Amino acid sequence: MSEERESLKERFAELQKHGTKFDRAVDAALAGAVKEARFLPSGRTVVTVVGRLGDELLDPAKPYCSCSNFFFRVAGGREETCYHLLGYKLASLAGKVDVVEFSDEEYGAYLSATVRDVFEVLRRSSG
Ligand SMILES: [Zn+2]
Repeated sequence: MSEERESLKERFAELQKHGTKFDRAVDAALAGAVKEARFLPSGRTVVTVVGRLGDELLDPAKPYCSCSNFFFRVAGGREETCYHLLGYKLASLAGKVDVVEFSDEEYGAYLSATVRDVFEVLRRSSG
């Protein structure tokens, strides 16, 4: 286990109550899987986490995630969060978010490509 991983786990020890989700979130943060596309000059952002099956689209402010775990368990009130949202939280607190800047003109194309990926993941994960 890497030192960075250990120090991240130590620093966010209060999140360990999330169990395996926390481990996956740490892995995602360290792997640079948490990405934020920042559009300028508006400052709009699109947050994605590259997961096992592909990209998931997040809205940490709501919070919302496009994964099935969020849809079935978090929105249903059975779980507090999914590991993507936890990964975003960790990555943003630890300065591990991979930020890429775009111009506002690219927003529409970027968003539709991301949504297409997300639907592709949903299609594949539902068999
Ligand atoms: Zn999720």
